[in-house]
Amino acid sequence: MRYQNTYVKLDTRLYHRQPPTPLENPRAGHFNNQVAQQLGWADDPDLMARWVDIIGGQYVPTQFEPLAMAYAGHQFGQWAGQLGDGRGLLMAQVLDNNDQLQDLHLKGCGLTPYSRMGDGRAVLRSTIREYLCGHALTQLGIPSSNALGFVVSDTPIRRERMEAGAALMRVADSHVRLGHVEWIASFAPDLLSEFTDYMIDTYYPECRDSEKPVLAFLQAVVQRTARMIADWQLTGFAHGVMNTDNLSITGSTLDFGPFGFMERFDPAWINNHSDHSGRYTYQNQPAIGHWNLNVWLPHFMRLTQEGVTRDSLAECLAPYEPTFMQHYQQGLCRKLGLPHQSDSLTLAFEFLTLLEDNLLDYTNSFRALLGLVAADEHPYEQQLLKIMIAELSDEARQVWQDWSTRYLAQIQQPSSPTNDQVVTDLKTNNPVYVLRNSMAQHAITAAEQGQFEEVARLFELLASPYTVQDIATDLDSRPPTPNAPQLPISCSS
Ligand code: AMP
Ligand code: MG
Repeated sequence: MRYQNTYVKLDTRLYHRQPPTPLENPRAGHFNNQVAQQLGWADDPDLMARWVDIIGGQYVPTQFEPLAMAYAGHQFGQWAGQLGDGRGLLMAQVLDNNDQLQDLHLKGCGLTPYSRMGDGRAVLRSTIREYLCGHALTQLGIPSSNALGFVVSDTPIRRERMEAGAALMRVADSHVRLGHVEWIASFAPDLLSEFTDYMIDTYYPECRDSEKPVLAFLQAVVQRTARMIADWQLTGFAHGVMNTDNLSITGSTLDFGPFGFMERFDPAWINNHSDHSGRYTYQNQPAIGHWNLNVWLPHFMRLTQEGVTRDSLAECLAPYEPTFMQHYQQGLCRKLGLPHQSDSLTLAFEFLTLLEDNLLDYTNSFRALLGLVAADEHPYEQQLLKIMIAELSDEARQVWQDWSTRYLAQIQQPSSPTNDQVVTDLKTNNPVYVLRNSMAQHAITAAEQGQFEEVARLFELLASPYTVQDIATDLDSRPPTPNAPQLPISCSS
């Protein structure tokens, strides 16, 4: 691998260097060969032969320089003070095949100085959820952390019950969170300038060409965050814990524990059972992204020499909403195979209302449009459409009839793309498979009995989320019955 350990060269107040604490008897859970290729891990026989020991914390290759990062954050809207990597270590940074810097981060590595009341460990169920979700989002085309692999062990972990300790080698373009800057502002303000330079040079080098690189950087973070959240909304992804310590400065999805993919469409849906006030509902995500950036940006006020003023920060934040709206609305039109214009949006919002009023499945309903537009070549989607219509009341069926007639007419408009293009757009913007909670749970139950075949099958399925596959089971496309109690997904992990 092409190592480029740069974080370890920063001021030593920013991290604590230490090795992981080994897990007992680590065993393979799953290994992501594609990520191994991308990182150059696959070219190193020692790394390939010993990946279980490495993720199990038993062996640290010589070029790794493990460290726990300090950061802070706002959790559920409240200042939480110092947090930091309480159960993770940045093991190494490497340039991947695309010359993109990637962090290798071991989650579940044992105690660090930032563990607070925790045990430094991660349980198998949350490890599997994070592993499969990073993979799912990446393959859906949404910027996200991914993982090289995970292991399970004999180390007992106490949560609501006793569980097996596991560890995941997370791979992300950065582990610098909004909360890093919050930590610096509170505990080492003299480092802000150096750290800002690091963030720009490492993650936003193109901003150096700007007259005011810091302002260009801040605006770029705002825009990337807005685009990422628009992608979440389009896919029906609810992150679950959008605290400032869980948002990456690169606009890449990070730290999802109690996440979920929308099934029956309910904008007020919250997947995280620990979120009692519903702060992080699906529909709140865009506003929370703005809230997070709004508490983050003022920390840069002290960089007056870089041209940062209250007004210039407001200008950095201003593009958040238009960037989000544009990306979201464009994406929504593409999900219908229509050009980005107001009559397409009207149809899109009417469709969402139909979904909401009838608690229809978000993923399946969009995909079912292929069964309407090109039924003959799409038997699977035709079936989805049948199921969808069968769920409608007589009254709602009328609404659907009216909507689908206008939709089909819109597609035939001269200004609309060709039929082939519509079909392609429908196919490439509406996944067949997302990681439903019930799918993950099924794989977890088997894994807790030592069976990892279901994890492997889901991994393969989610590798091509836009393609109907033979390896799919009913469970992979079946939403829960309407108003069924949700599987309890909490912050416990
Ligand atoms: P999270 O809500 O998972 O993003 O975690 C918030 C903070 O708590 C981070 O600083 C984590 O490193 C820390 N943390 C979470 N779980 C544990 C644990 N089991 N042991 C130590 N620290 C933890
Ligand atoms: Mg976190």
